[in-house]
Amino acid sequence: MYDFVVVGVGPAGARFSRRAAEQGYDVLALEKGTVGTPLACSGHVSTDIWQFTGEGAREELFQNEIYGARFHVGGPHSAAYPFYKDEVASNVIDRVGLDRHLADLAREAGADVREEHTVTDVTEHDDHVAVVVNGPDGVLEFEGKMLAGCDGPRSRVRESLSLPEPDELLHGVLAFSDEVDHENFVDVHLTAPTFFAWRIPRGEAGVEYGLAAPPGVQVTKHFEELIDGYEIDVAHRCSGAIPIGPPSRVTSRRAFLIGDAAAQTKPFTGGGILYGMTCADHAAREINPDRPATLAAYERAWRDDLEREMTLGHSLRRAYSLPEPVQRVGLNALSGEIGVHMDRPTSLLSPAHLKAMLSRLRPS
Ligand SMILES: Cc1cc2nc3c(=O)[nH]c(=O)nc-3n(C[C@H](O)[C@H](O)[C@H](O)COP(=O)(O)OP(=O)(O)OC[C@H]3O[C@@H](n4cnc5c(N)ncnc54)[C@H](O)[C@@H]3O)c2cc1C
Repeated sequence: MYDFVVVGVGPAGARFSRRAAEQGYDVLALEKGTVGTPLACSGHVSTDIWQFTGEGAREELFQNEIYGARFHVGGPHSAAYPFYKDEVASNVIDRVGLDRHLADLAREAGADVREEHTVTDVTEHDDHVAVVVNGPDGVLEFEGKMLAGCDGPRSRVRESLSLPEPDELLHGVLAFSDEVDHENFVDVHLTAPTFFAWRIPRGEAGVEYGLAAPPGVQVTKHFEELIDGYEIDVAHRCSGAIPIGPPSRVTSRRAFLIGDAAAQTKPFTGGGILYGMTCADHAAREINPDRPATLAAYERAWRDDLEREMTLGHSLRRAYSLPEPVQRVGLNALSGEIGVHMDRPTSLLSPAHLKAMLSRLRPS
């Protein structure tokens, strides 16, 4: 019997496995494919990412540094409204490499990480959780005192345990060109219904074009318009789901969800790498596999940390759906230097942001 069986080895599962193993727990982590693949993520993260990585990570994973974003109400040729910091705001990193790096850290901490192991069924019992797994050598069964569902936006664990669904699943698409671009700004186009399209310079790794929107709107059509507008040839298209709005409960009797499985994402960008790993730390700190009552402490801890950020993030997202003339006036009034942390919308009220806003009033 393991202390924890972890389903899924993305950032959330790898981080939880590492932290739990470091505390001396027996951890089995099961990944259905090869860690990090297939890619369906921009890997655009705040610089806080380096607090979650190990030695040599930056040299291995870093692609470009970003100071801000140029917002556009229309396509590539429409007016740009820049928002920027006077220091590096975020990094663009190799996301496949990140997942491998985090999985290696979990292994080094003592977790038993197995790839090509797909969890096909989960059953909760009074004193343990049992999983059925399809592995390279056939069907296997494992038992754990507790189960961590870190299996992404379409979580099988969530479904098997009848835990509530996230509010929304957006559809995200990506494609890449081979332009070398070290520029320090991303472009954001408010052209996709209720969300946005983007261009991210990735240094030597080329340029990424992407778009996310609710399913049902013509994602492909809007994406083609973006690519046509930039007049560029793209390759390596890929896509994935982005959960927004966590369910009312992400724990059951002996199981808990972390990361995209729990929709622990930023509602105004869909980014979930940092939030997922932050919640993994809350889970590893609070949950004792011998005391199911500690699951409530995890629910409290991650919501205390992130719920206000998510509520404010939802409000920011509503601005994407305002009429274009209102967007133009708002962007015009607010653009310029900011002091906001990209993962923490509440930092809109921080001294750093207020200082940046006031600095615009100074006579030049
Ligand atoms: C187009 C797009 C762009 C994005 N860009 C960014 C960005 O720039 N920055 C950012 O922070 N976030 C971004 N995100 C979101 C980010 O990718 C996720 O928030 C993040 O990957 C969540 O990590 P996770 O570990 O919870 O889930 P995942 O990374 O999805 O990992 C889940 C793992 O579980 C495995 N799994 C699933 N089912 C099973 C099973 N039955 N058995 C075993 N294993 C299983 C999967 O193979 C996968 O490896 C983007 C998402 C999309 C779709």
